[in-house]
This record gives sequence, structure tokens and C-alpha cells, in this order.
Amino acid sequence: MAAKKDYYEVLGINKNASDEEIKKAYRKLAKQHHPDLNKDEKAEDNFKQVSEAYEVLSDAKKRAQYDRFGHEGLNQNGGSGFGQGGFGFDFGDIFDSFFGGGFSQTRRNGPSKGADIREHTRITFEEAAFGVTKKIKINRYEDCDTCTGTGAKPGTKKEACQHCHGTGQVKVQQSTLFGSFVNVKTCDVCQGEGTIIVEKCTDCNGTGKIRKQRTIEVKIPAGIDDGQSISIRNEGGVGDKGGPNGNLIVTISVEKHKFLQRSGYDVYCRIPISFVQASLGDTIEVETLDGMIKHDIPSGTQNQTTFKLKGRGITSLRTGHRGDQIIEVVVEVPTKLNKEQKELLTKFAATFGETTSGKKKGIFK
Ligand SMILES: [Zn+2]
Ligand SMILES: [Zn+2]
Repeated sequence: MAAKKDYYEVLGINKNASDEEIKKAYRKLAKQHHPDLNKDEKAEDNFKQVSEAYEVLSDAKKRAQYDRFGHEGLNQNGGSGFGQGGFGFDFGDIFDSFFGGGFSQTRRNGPSKGADIREHTRITFEEAAFGVTKKIKINRYEDCDTCTGTGAKPGTKKEACQHCHGTGQVKVQQSTLFGSFVNVKTCDVCQGEGTIIVEKCTDCNGTGKIRKQRTIEVKIPAGIDDGQSISIRNEGGVGDKGGPNGNLIVTISVEKHKFLQRSGYDVYCRIPISFVQASLGDTIEVETLDGMIKHDIPSGTQNQTTFKLKGRGITSLRTGHRGDQIIEVVVEVPTKLNKEQKELLTKFAATFGETTSGKKKGIFK
């Protein structure tokens, strides 16, 4: 590759050029060398050089770097990725103002991917924990069976488009800021196909596609969380001109559990126990994802103590192992006591050497 030309030289300006001068020089040269306007074989190369120079010099930061270090300075910072044959950078307002977004219109219609279909489904907390298969009804476009997707009535042929003489493209005069020039566009009559359908397939009205309702089985993996989506490849709309089908994307809503709360792959619950149970210890019944199980609370358990039930949580999407269930016990103090209960508690308090007048002070001060 030849040594890179100086950007100022490329734009024909001096090193002290103002932003306005840079912009002006670029506009003039870009128009002069644009490959759609200039059929010279060097035009594309020249156009790229001009665009590259402008991209750097119009950006104060890049320009300063270039002034200090030259081309090297730019490459060391990741460069700008020029010279790979594309115009893959942002032309910004200048491009829009004189090409009117014309690039995309010049592309011939090729194969394109079918539409993605987005659906929603609700599953229970347990289904999310263990996985489930759901049947989901969708409507999607498929190739018409009658014409096998061609859009032409069976037994008839497509003919060359008269409008574009079978090329799929037409030349259009475009008026812009800089006067008018000829641009190549996709033919509207045949949509770039180059052929037109003489007799349309009556089932799909010549579109080649038909809307069908399908029931898709969607495997929802164990561990999925509320708001996450599953993508099922190729189950979306049919592709155009041999392009791949779209995907079916199902977003999952997980219902709340009446008792358990999820945190990552663990589940949490709070269980009220009486102060007697907390004091003496007890065996309690705990609801888990696997049903009711018994769990021992030791004597002297304090309020908000947590216990871990290993492996009773939700299956991890990544490892396949289950998280834990965390139990938090809430020790409840009775709010209504009858006379007999009050007397018993007073006696109980007395065994600790405490006295109580009943109403005002708490018993276990
Ligand atoms: Zn058809
Ligand atoms: Zn045409």
C-alpha cells in the first residue's frame, strides 16, 4: 500500500483551515468524486480518501491527534477503520443534505430475513423453578402452498418487467442542493425483482405468502426468571427470496408465589412462630417447592433467625444445581392474653426476679 496522503493535502486546504473551510472543501470534493456521480475508476478511492480526511479533520479531538502524531497517532488509538472498502462511518448531516439517504435506495432487493414474532406467556412460580413446556399459538406468514411462494398462479410464468427491462433498477433524476444528478434506484414496479407476475395466485393474491395460525411448543428451561425471553430460531415469519425465517421470541411472566420469594436462585420465606416455640424449640412444617417438610427450631431461637434448607431453591439456568431455601422466623408476641395467661406470665417473670404491674410496662423488660 502506498504511503497515506496528508489529510490537508487531500482536502486541498492549509493547516490552519477553519471548520467552515474544511466542510466546504469536503462538500466540493465529495460531490466531485462520489462513485454514483463519477464513473472514473479512481473515483471510489478518491472519495474514500476525501471522506476519511474529513472524518478526522472535522473532529477536533482527532484533528489535534493527527496534527501531533500524523496518521500513526490515529491508528494507535484504535484508528477509524477506513480502507476496508465500505462507507461504514457516519456522514452526518452533510451526507443527508446532498444524497438524501440515497445509498439504501440503490441496493437491489435481495434475500431478507423473515419477521420476528414476539409473544408473551405466563407461567407459575413452580414452572419457572422446574421448567415447563408450553404450547403457544401464533399467527405468522408462511410460503403459500398453492404457488410455492412464487405468487404466480400455478401453470403461469413470470415475465420480464417492462419498466426496468428486467434489470430491477431504474435511473432517476434527483434534484439536490448541488443541482440534479442521476441516481440508480430499485424499480418500483417489480420491487427490484426484474420480473412481474402476469396472473396472480388467487390464494395469496400474488404475494406468495399466507398467514397461518400455528401452535408452537416452547420449552421453558428451569430457572427462568420473570421478564426473561426465549428465542426459538426459525419459528418466526418466512424469509423473503430465500432469506432465513425470523425467530419466535417469547417473553416470560412468572406469577408470584403466595409464600415464597425469589432472590437469584434462592427462595425466601418468613415463618411466624410463638415466643413459646422460640423459647422451648419445636418442629415446624415448612412449605417448599417440593411440598411440605418438617424443620426443627432449636430452643432459644431469636427473632429473625434464618435457617437454610440446602438444595430447596430454584434450578440454576447455568449450572443445573438448585439454590437454597432460606427461612426467617418471626417470633410473635401475643397481643391478647386472658386473666389466667397473664397470671402465669407474671409468675414466670417472677422466677427471673422480675416484677410487673401489668399494663404499662412490658413484661420482659
Ligand atoms: Zn400463492
Ligand atoms: Zn422492474
